[in-house]
Amino acid sequence: MSTARQQTLKSRINCTGIGLHSNSSVSMTLCPAPPDSGVLFRRTDLDPTIASVAARVDSVVDCRFSTTIGRGEDVCIGTIEHLMAAFAGCRVDNVLIEIDGPEVPIMDGSAAPFIFLIECAGTVAQDAPRQAIRVLKDVRVDDGERSASLCPAAEFSASFELDYDNPVIARQEYFFRFEGDSFKTDLSRARTFCLEQEVDYLRSLGLAQGGSLDNAIVVGKQGILNEGGLRHDDEFVRHKILDAVGDLYLAGGPIQGHFHGVCSGHEMNHRLLDALFEDASAWCLAPSADDQSVILEAPIAATA
Ligand SMILES: [Zn+2]
Repeated sequence: MSTARQQTLKSRINCTGIGLHSNSSVSMTLCPAPPDSGVLFRRTDLDPTIASVAARVDSVVDCRFSTTIGRGEDVCIGTIEHLMAAFAGCRVDNVLIEIDGPEVPIMDGSAAPFIFLIECAGTVAQDAPRQAIRVLKDVRVDDGERSASLCPAAEFSASFELDYDNPVIARQEYFFRFEGDSFKTDLSRARTFCLEQEVDYLRSLGLAQGGSLDNAIVVGKQGILNEGGLRHDDEFVRHKILDAVGDLYLAGGPIQGHFHGVCSGHEMNHRLLDALFEDASAWCLAPSADDQSVILEAPIAATA
């Protein structure tokens, strides 16, 4: 099995949309970036000397309802998690995101439109090995009955349990194994959601100003308000894993380990990464295996 090489985009690609919380129109361009540069956001509407923020867990400044990274008070980029999940899911290591406002466009509330953008731009292998963050021992954070944990595993996988005091969502579990295009097929189309009774509260906080049935599932007591219905029966728990995939990509590379969440969210995902990196014996950098080569090399191994 050979080591995977880092990837970036083949060409620049642009999209426009509105921010879920700010309701302002944003133009965003995804650009190729050199090896080992990681995921970097740049606010094109601000002074260029302060406008860049690396998508790393130590850049997180707010994670109450979505993940916001920033530096200082004036430079921030919000709701990055679905875009980050798309980069993780398409194995894009290095990318520069130019954005002319404070929030990534919400699109349809899932990662699917970002997957489409990445596929339109295309990806290209670079002359540098991809390093994974290999989990060496169990790491866990708790908050009452909620928890998030990482444990050693040969590849990245994620499982989640959610339990809502709402008959439409109720109790859901899901297990996700990252292989081939499984992120695209199993998770990418799952949309963000909120309870109908939460909408007024979020708006009173100045949040979700751009939220609508076009970019979120709104769950009432009897059923969902969106006319088109759900994309999966268990779309809610799939979206929670999509969020975790995006948040965990703030580690700075792919995680080689298993994530398990119980009713957790952005805040616990980031606390989990902090706990992982705080313990030097809990992780190491390790060459990432090329899962393309697993398929290519399998027949040779079988005849040897
Ligand atoms: Zn989300």
